[in-house]
Amino acid sequence: MIPVAEVQIGEKEKEYVNDCLATGWVSSLGKYVTAFEEAFAAFCDRPYGVATSSGTTALHLALAGLNIGPGAEVIVPSLTFVATANAVVYAGARPVFVDCDPLTWTIDPTAVAAAVTPRTQAVIVVHLYGHPADMDPILAVAREHNLAVIEDAAEAHGARYKGKRVGSLGTVGCFSFYGNKIITTGEGGMVVTADRTLAQRMAWLRDHAMSKDRRYWHQEVGYNYRMTNVQAAIGLGQLERIEEILAQKRRIGARYRERLADASGITAAPEAPWAQNVYWMYSVLIHDEFGLSRDQVMAGLRRGGVDSRNFFWPVHALPPYESGLRLPVSEDLAARGINLPSSPSLTNDQIDFTCDTLTGLRDAYAG
Ligand SMILES: *Cc1c(COP(=O)(O)O)cnc(C)c1O
Repeated sequence: MIPVAEVQIGEKEKEYVNDCLATGWVSSLGKYVTAFEEAFAAFCDRPYGVATSSGTTALHLALAGLNIGPGAEVIVPSLTFVATANAVVYAGARPVFVDCDPLTWTIDPTAVAAAVTPRTQAVIVVHLYGHPADMDPILAVAREHNLAVIEDAAEAHGARYKGKRVGSLGTVGCFSFYGNKIITTGEGGMVVTADRTLAQRMAWLRDHAMSKDRRYWHQEVGYNYRMTNVQAAIGLGQLERIEEILAQKRRIGARYRERLADASGITAAPEAPWAQNVYWMYSVLIHDEFGLSRDQVMAGLRRGGVDSRNFFWPVHALPPYESGLRLPVSEDLAARGINLPSSPSLTNDQIDFTCDTLTGLRDAYAG
């Protein structure tokens, strides 16, 4: 079975982890946390990085750092992993779901503008499946209404918007280093920002909001959202190879596109003229003309030895958030989308096999 994603751990990761074990620095103190924060922030063209225990806690820490809480509304796209919305609820604020753009599958800037109310304090954009959101019109709305812009870049490390790295465009950029993300620390996350005061506040909240000069004196309800030195050691090793990983992702994206761009009944993953997609998951849409439903296609791929994933359910339709709201673009994309195998180690032959298996299902149906 060709897997959807595969973790690759290199020699550097092992060397750095062994260093943690040999020296006893296995908890959240130690040189790798700071080194990883500095190196990853620099990779994102930001001066400050605050490492966290996950991408979800990175999002929550960003909201808490920005003092977004009860009474506030936060605009989020519905087509995302559920953690984007859950973090808003953890902060005590209310997620306001908006629709996506049918061409880039990311948050629709006109829907953002239409959703602003006097209670709106922030917008979370999601760079879905590795494709950046259209930032300029969203940043303009944010400036006009004095909103914070949180980039959920959990799926898009290294992607570019008009030449700029994702994570460097908003007030804060939040990343995940879960096992199947572009780079991993096992579990982990980071918030990057250019705002020094905010970075210091987030680092303080991450560590129980304890006073720097008065031990066990806590002025706010903080969190333990720390990353361990062992996790950071893995992350630093991974980060030293990230350009290589991204080059493989670009190769995979180009190969799929070449093979699927003209396939009838299929829409290949987007790449807007202003975007550089990093294809966290190379994804396609299955249209009615294909002749088989999305779920039939996934079952057919599995029979042929190719693993795949359905798109996220639109979050506004999940039980905790269900309100009768309809967001037709997100609902349509969610019903049609499939993530195909996308590991950096995927060979061109495996991509060709995946595409042949996919188009073969349609031809078999048509025949
Ligand atoms: C993975 C992911 C997260 C959460 O990251 P974790 O490290 O799993 O907590 C948040 N948002 C998006 C869009 C993700 O894909």
